[in-house]
Amino acid sequence: MSQYANSPNVQGNPNRMIDLRSDTVTQPTAAMKQAMIDAPLGDDVYEEDPTVKALEQRLATLLGKEAALFFPSGTQSNLAALLCHCQRGEEVIVGEKYHTFLHEARGASVLGGIAMHPLPTNKLGQIEIADMLAAIKPDDIHDPISKLLALENTVSGCVQDQAHLTALAEAAHAKGLSVHLDGARFFNAVVKQNKSAAELAAPMDSISICLSKGLGTPAGSVLVGSEKLIRYAKRQRKILGGGMRQSGMLAGAGLYALENNIERLAVDHEHTRIIAEALTNLPNLEVDQERLQTNMFFIKPLPEDHAPLQAFMTEHGVRIGWQQPWMRCVLHLGVSAQDVEQIITLFKRYYQP
Ligand SMILES: *Cc1c(COP(=O)(O)O)cnc(C)c1O
Repeated sequence: MSQYANSPNVQGNPNRMIDLRSDTVTQPTAAMKQAMIDAPLGDDVYEEDPTVKALEQRLATLLGKEAALFFPSGTQSNLAALLCHCQRGEEVIVGEKYHTFLHEARGASVLGGIAMHPLPTNKLGQIEIADMLAAIKPDDIHDPISKLLALENTVSGCVQDQAHLTALAEAAHAKGLSVHLDGARFFNAVVKQNKSAAELAAPMDSISICLSKGLGTPAGSVLVGSEKLIRYAKRQRKILGGGMRQSGMLAGAGLYALENNIERLAVDHEHTRIIAEALTNLPNLEVDQERLQTNMFFIKPLPEDHAPLQAFMTEHGVRIGWQQPWMRCVLHLGVSAQDVEQIITLFKRYYQP
């Protein structure tokens, strides 16, 4: 972990917090910052930024698709994708717990006039093929026109079964729908399953990948798909205000992350497992064993412990999720092996004083 020693997130700063609220809190390391400084730049709206182009090319190649497009955020990348796949009055079918439905302020409906049909999503994030098929509308003037199936992987840290995703995509394609994957944490799924990115991407028509989660960049997402889709997405990005100029500074961080921070996601997965296992036998604290797959674990304290536990941890330098009744904790490159020990020690002190 020595390459992270210079990160302001990891240094021996007494005021530093170990932050488990999300993997979005990562700070660029010194080496990543250097890559940003060294990145050759141009005006990307003129399609003249070599670093942005290199990042897009690299991800397209990694995922086995024709093209890619750099976005300021995952929300915008997902929204542009939905706007590519659906016109006004058309419909996306989506898991009710997925980010595109639940956490993007229904941008597709609000800005795009796209109807959304949410499907039941089980605890591990899976939707059923029968539910999806039943949601596809007949050609009837009373209905919107079903155009897109929107999937997600990972969902709350849970890796989606690739055979099931493929079956869902095939069933959707057979009905004339396209398939989009919100792969905010796509590489966590790749690393966990030891499969290639191209294999996971193969059934999908478009994939949105976040660089600013576990991959550790300050900002940026990339939409990957066919040449035709990406050409159309570029116009959507412009409409949404996402055309950026010398964005190679951000793309430089992305290229660095693809080079250096993919395989190390396994370290976050291991840290997650170590902490969750250490907490499993503490009294009055439940650890969700099912949703313990990649870089997240979920704990359920007694209701009366919720606020005091959080206050105790914060007081001792560890921020944990605020969600109730299950608190989400997320591991990332800003948390060292030493921090993992510290986290475990603090939980034990709270529960076994
Ligand atoms: C973070 C995230 C996004 C997009 O997030 P931005 O904050 O807009 O970059 C999309 N989907 C999922 C599942 C996410 O976790």
